[in-house]
Formats: sequence, C-alpha cells, structure tokens
Amino acid sequence: MITYSASTVQQILTIESALKTLTKTNVPPNTNDWSVEDSSVLYGLNRWGENYFSINQKGHINVSPKGSNNKKIDLMDLVQELESRNLKLPLLIRFDDILEDRLNRLHEAFQQAINQYKYKGKYQGVFPIKCNQHRHVVEELMTCGRHWNFGLEAGSKAELLIALSLIQDSKALLICNGYKDERYIETTILARQLGRQPIVVIEQTTEVQRIIQASRNIGAAPLIGIRAKLSSRSSGRWGASVGATAKFGLSIPEILTTVEQLRSANLLNDLRLLHFHVGSQINDIAILKDALQEAGQIYIELNRLGAPMQYLDVGGGLGIDYDGSQTSTEASTNYSLQNYANDVVATIKECCEANSIRVPTLVSESGRAIASHFSVLVFNILSKSVVPAKIPSIKENEPLIIRNLRETLALIKKISKNTEVNSSQLQESWNDAIKFQDDALSAFRLGYLGLSERAMAEQLTWACAKEVVERLSSCSLIPEDLKTLRYRLAGTYYANLSIFRSAPDTWAIDQLFPIMPIHRLNEEPKQLGHFADLTCDSDGKLTRFIDNGQIKPLLELHELKPNEQYVIGMFLGGAYQEVMGNLHNLFGSTNSVHLRLTKDGGYTLDHVVRGNTKADVLEAMEHDPEALLERLRIASEKAIQSGNLKIGDAQRLMDHLETSLRQSTYLHE
Ligand code: PLP
Repeated sequence: MITYSASTVQQILTIESALKTLTKTNVPPNTNDWSVEDSSVLYGLNRWGENYFSINQKGHINVSPKGSNNKKIDLMDLVQELESRNLKLPLLIRFDDILEDRLNRLHEAFQQAINQYKYKGKYQGVFPIKCNQHRHVVEELMTCGRHWNFGLEAGSKAELLIALSLIQDSKALLICNGYKDERYIETTILARQLGRQPIVVIEQTTEVQRIIQASRNIGAAPLIGIRAKLSSRSSGRWGASVGATAKFGLSIPEILTTVEQLRSANLLNDLRLLHFHVGSQINDIAILKDALQEAGQIYIELNRLGAPMQYLDVGGGLGIDYDGSQTSTEASTNYSLQNYANDVVATIKECCEANSIRVPTLVSESGRAIASHFSVLVFNILSKSVVPAKIPSIKENEPLIIRNLRETLALIKKISKNTEVNSSQLQESWNDAIKFQDDALSAFRLGYLGLSERAMAEQLTWACAKEVVERLSSCSLIPEDLKTLRYRLAGTYYANLSIFRSAPDTWAIDQLFPIMPIHRLNEEPKQLGHFADLTCDSDGKLTRFIDNGQIKPLLELHELKPNEQYVIGMFLGGAYQEVMGNLHNLFGSTNSVHLRLTKDGGYTLDHVVRGNTKADVLEAMEHDPEALLERLRIASEKAIQSGNLKIGDAQRLMDHLETSLRQSTYLHE
C-alpha cells in the first residue's frame, strides 16, 4: 500500500472517516463563467440567508440588516474599514437591526395568525436571557420590543437581576424559570409590588413550599406558573426536554398535588400561567402540534380546578434553518415562522373553544429564532497546507520505480481534459501509480532507495492524483475509488481563530453553521478544504459543513493569493454559543479549595479560591452592577411614593439584591 507522511496519513484518515457520512458530493461545475448566483447556490446562501444575506456583483457578501429591500452593507468593505480602524480579524460583527427585524417578524407572524384565526387573545413574547446575556443585546431587545410589551425570561438569579433592572415596561412579563431559593422567590414578590410582572414558574415540587413560605414572610404572593412535564414525543438534539425523565417540570399527579397545596395556602388565585418547553430547535412541526394539544388540555383542566388562568407559555424551540434544506434534520426545520405561529394559535383556540374556556395570552420564549442571525463571526486565513505534488526535476540515473512513476504521470497528462474521458483509463493509471509508490516504499525499507528518491516517489504519486482529479469532471461515471481522490487532495486552511473560544457549539454539540468566504464569490472556488485553528489542540478544526440537508466534510474554497487576505464568515451564530463557552445562564466559576490531610486524620485547607460572584459575571457581560441597583432603587422610590411598596419592603428588596451581587452565582438556602 502507498505510504504517506504521518501528517498526511492523519489528514487522509480524518477525511475518510468523514466520507463515511458523505452521501452527496457538491462538486462545482468545471466552468469558467462562474457567477455570484452559482456561489449562492453552492453555499446555500439563497436558502439560509433569510433575506439578510446576499452576494453583490463585486462577489462580496451583502448584509441587509432590515431585510432585502433596504440598505445593504458590503461585508468585505466593512471588514476592511474596521481593520483600518485597528479592529483586526477575527471579529464578531453584530447587526442590531437584524435583532430588531427578527423581533418584528416574530410578532408580525403571531399577529397574522391571530387575525387569520380570529383569536380573541393576544401574543406576548419574552426573550430567554441565557440565549445571549450581553448587555447591549438585552437592552436593544427591551428598547425595540417596548411597543410589543416584550419581556424577558430568567433562568438564574444573576439573570433575574438583569431582567428586573432592564424591564421598564409594567406590562412586560418576566418569566422566572430555573431553580429557585427563598431569596429568589421573595425578590419576585417584591418586584411585583414594584410594578413588574414576574411570574414564578414552579419547575420542581420542592419549590411549592418555598413559594408558600416566601409569601408568608412578605405577606404577599407572586404571580405563579407551573411548568408541565409533557408526555408528547420529541426528537432532535434537545428531545430529552420532555417525557417522564425530563429535568424540569411537574408530572400530572404533581400538578394536581401542587394545585391543592396552593389552594390550601390561599395562593390558587395567583396561579396564572402554564408553561412547557419541548427542547430547543424543534425540527419537526408535528412535535409542536402534539405538545400544544397536550398542554391545551392541561390548561383547560387547571381552569376547571379553579385557577384563574391567563397565560399559556409555549417555551422556546422555534427553530432555525441552518442548512437551508427546510427538512426535519437537526440543522433545519420543516416549517416556517408563520407555520409555527399558525399552529400555536389555531391549536390553542380549538382546545379552548371546544371547552368554552377563555383563550389565554400566548407567550413564547423564543431565543434562537431571535438572536441567531444578527451576529457574524469573520476570520482570515493565515496559510494553507497542500499535498506535496510539485513535480521533481529529472536527475541522472533515476531508479526504475521513479521512471515508472514519471511515465504514468505522462500517460495521465496525455488524456484530454476537454473531451469525454474513459474513467477506466484513469483508474488503470491511478492503480499503476499506487503500485509504483508501494514498490518505492518496499525498496526504501530494504535500503535500495534513499530518502530523496522516496520523496520524489511521493511527489510524483500526488502529481498523478492531481492530474487524475482534473479529468474527473469529464467522466460520465466516476469510480468510487477515484471520487475519494478529490478529498485526499484537499487542503487545510489555517484560520486565525480559536474554535474553542469563538465557535464552541461546533465541537461541543456538533452544531452546523453556514460557513463561506465573504468575498471572491464571482470566482469559482476550485479547492476543497477544511479549517484548522490556531490552538495547539488537534480538535480545533472545522470539518463539517452544511450541504442542503446533508453534511459534507470539505468546503469549496479559493486558492490563496499572495498579499491578499482570504476572509471567511461563520453565520447564524448569535444564539447560545456567543456565551455558551464560559458563562451559560450566568453561572460562573465555583469556589474551590485546596485540601491536605493532617497527621491526626483530619485535614487543613491550604487555599480557598473564591468563585465568581454575580457582580463578576454581570460585569463580564458588560452590565454595571451598581447601575442595575440604582435603577431598581429609583423604581422602588416611585413604588413607595405611589403606595405600592412599603419602605420596609423596599429596603428588604435592596438588601436581597445587594447581598445577591456579592454572593456566588449558585443557590443559597
Ligand atoms: N425556555 C426554556 C425553558 C429553555 O430551556 C430554552 C432553551 O432551551 C428556551 C426557552 C429557548 O429556546 P430556543 O432558543 O430554542 O427558542
């Protein structure tokens, strides 16, 4: 068998294992009149771009932050302008207008569904802060969502602090999910008196007693919700969010017990919301429909049990078509935003009308669908590795094996590239090349061939491979063996990036993102390659690319030009992964201790390293903890003036918040 250098072997193994999953090859046609439309089709931009991204006649990506009919920004020109301001690549570019547009599209879709089905209630969304906690993102959403009474969902105490401080609209909802301790619950009760609308969602049975206790402590109740653990099927990467083993939510018997506990504690009147979440990135609309029907029936039963229900919160899960295939694959969805809104509205209306129950205000916690499109990660390529296919110059008295390889190469070159090529001729020559390369290795092992001759054999074999590949597009039938040659010749493009830092979802959960050059799109990309990053870790690679519902191991790329940057964009990455790498849900580092055993059988703590406080993690997301507190102090003052909050309770609220900022991000009993 042919022998390659260790790194080449590694490269081939990686490519071959990826090839096992490759069912379709997206080979660019061998044509010189390449157009920007060809690039759009090749990279799927026309399918996943959602009118935000297109290609201009310069062959650059255009960004239309407000949708296709509005002002366009040339992404490559923008990158160059930013670089001239010393904002060098890699860069994460966030288009806030896209964020606003996503929010508008979501609300418009629900409004259209409400009109179409003559739904007598309304839609009121919230943004799950965990999806992207950066201050500017949350503030932007609160500003542009004001006229929709758009609210926030908090999944931890640090997120609760952000939500309490940034929601200024008394009609906006603040959905409180996640684990809760008594201080968390007391804070929400006091925030209700402050004129906010926090709804404490019971996710665990143990929280019921805590809510009852906190309400007794304060002498007032929070608005209460229940998260149901649905039995409906689910699928996709986050499918485990439903069913008996789901981490959050109450089973039906637990819901019934909770209702009775709340009734006995005189809190049933504050139970207003039913929530479910069937997992992020729902790829099949049928799953949502089943869940809606089940949740609709539970909602009706809660009404019948005497709770004055007002809201049905369908959670997150509205998916993104990352690969543009419009199918139920993990990286896509088999429904549109409008289909989603229609199904939510129509199913709940049908359920309620059949039971003569007033329809609820529909709440959704869509994160991914709002935040994915607005940020683009742009990075440059530093260099490219290529197979050693340079033809070595002829030396005197070359060994027979080398002469054989030269002859094989000459034979392949004689085959015309322009007329129909007989693939068996190519296959035969390639088999010969492999055989001679094998012979060269055996001869080297036995000491008949020196290192430089072995290198020549390797170069000539790769040169044969290149010539074979260049003729493949003229074959009507390509043998399997030769198809893989194209991938063996692929190059590694070294990206000026840390994939661990900037694209964590690609390695942590195998998320696919559209990746493509942002310029030279009027030029045919004749190379195939994958990306390796700057880190010393061998996993720092991007080797999975979208392919209209499939996954391909290599991407069509351009040859690097001397003294010219080659710039790549990774799109649709604004949700989760921007913050996933380190501070998901704003849980920071834990405290840690260094312990040593003592002679008497005990131990000493040599070092205690404090974990992040909530103030630390908030600052990491560019929030100013003092400014957050000040906003809430001013709001308390107003609530005191209007008689909604007692001075003592206002003090208690500020104490909770101040203490909370100094404490770790985890819960405290
Ligand atoms: N709500 C809850 C309870 C979640 O766990 C999540 C994320 O999984 C979301 C909302 C947001 O989901 P998505 O980003 O898919 O809309």
